[in-house]
Amino acid sequence: MAQKNKDLLKDLVEISKYFGQRFDLTQAAGGNSSVKSNKKMFIKSSGYSLSEVTLKNGYTIVDNDKLVNFLHSARGNKITDSIEKKSFKILKDSTLDGGSPSIETLAHSIMKKFTIHIHPVAVNMVSVNRKSREIFNKIFSTKRKGESIYYVSYRTPGISLATEIINVVSVEQDKLKRDNTIIVFLENHGLICSSDNKLELIQSVEKIVKQFENYLKINLSRYKLTTEISQILWRNSYENLICCYSEDAILTKFINLKNSKNFIKPLNPDQLLYCGESPLIVGSSLETSIKSYLKKYKTYPRVLIVKKDVYLVAPNVLKAKEIEDVFKSHLYFNSNGALNRVLPKDEIKKLDSYNPQKNRLRFWFDYVE
Ligand SMILES: [Zn+2]
Repeated sequence: MAQKNKDLLKDLVEISKYFGQRFDLTQAAGGNSSVKSNKKMFIKSSGYSLSEVTLKNGYTIVDNDKLVNFLHSARGNKITDSIEKKSFKILKDSTLDGGSPSIETLAHSIMKKFTIHIHPVAVNMVSVNRKSREIFNKIFSTKRKGESIYYVSYRTPGISLATEIINVVSVEQDKLKRDNTIIVFLENHGLICSSDNKLELIQSVEKIVKQFENYLKINLSRYKLTTEISQILWRNSYENLICCYSEDAILTKFINLKNSKNFIKPLNPDQLLYCGESPLIVGSSLETSIKSYLKKYKTYPRVLIVKKDVYLVAPNVLKAKEIEDVFKSHLYFNSNGALNRVLPKDEIKKLDSYNPQKNRLRFWFDYVE
């Protein structure tokens, strides 16, 4: 793989993991991410969740010009069933490598270099409101320099939505070229944000979403802490991990920090495998706590306890759910006050370097190639 493509893919993985780990920004396999270079676009494949995108899996390479040309030819026409069918074919024909590109690929094709499509909770609390346009105008009554924000009425995802976006956005073609970031608010759907600069894209999304939260007077900061945790890990050479907030009622019910010795040691091989040798009980500084854990255990913490909140660290959101399950079972074992037998130190050491055990953590897509 040419170095340029490799760098692009790294950017794609980074923005996909950044947005994919945050429940407040995207849920399940919703949303999409893409990066463009010359005439090619690297875009998340259909059916993958954002946090599953890696350098090897979860993305598709498409011929972007083919898509843009088709969109411009379809623009202004009524989107009939036959145009819709044709769009599916164009999408398939434009695929250069990888699985099926998502239905939202067409909308990405007309955007800037980095594009993210997400379904933020706060944005969608407004987007489904019957008075969404009125509220949108109220929130964005003052425009920010270098940023264009557009309201797009509901359309079926695919060619209908993509042509509607062109109709709305291209009214101000000059502005589009001049502005660093484009934000498209999709009625009853979510957001599309695009920028030529990765960092500006991330900052703009955070800022815009916060404006919706402020308007709604809701606090979603518990989800945002996942970004802080994962960024500390990324800075400490664990680039491919994500962090999730656990809202499992049983976990919070059973966690009692005064009695943490009940759950800090593994009781069976699965606990060691999924949850690590010990959860990390975060002290006053998140960064210091994580760094000393990395130093002590020579690996990253899978379970972090921040006051009464539980955070899970894994390669993707689906894997984080597995850790949550195993950690929960662990708390059950300790819930009846019994004196339990912990795994001895030498057994932990053996299991840590035991291949039949480690192989169980392989990803499902390792098997389908
Ligand atoms: Zn969507």
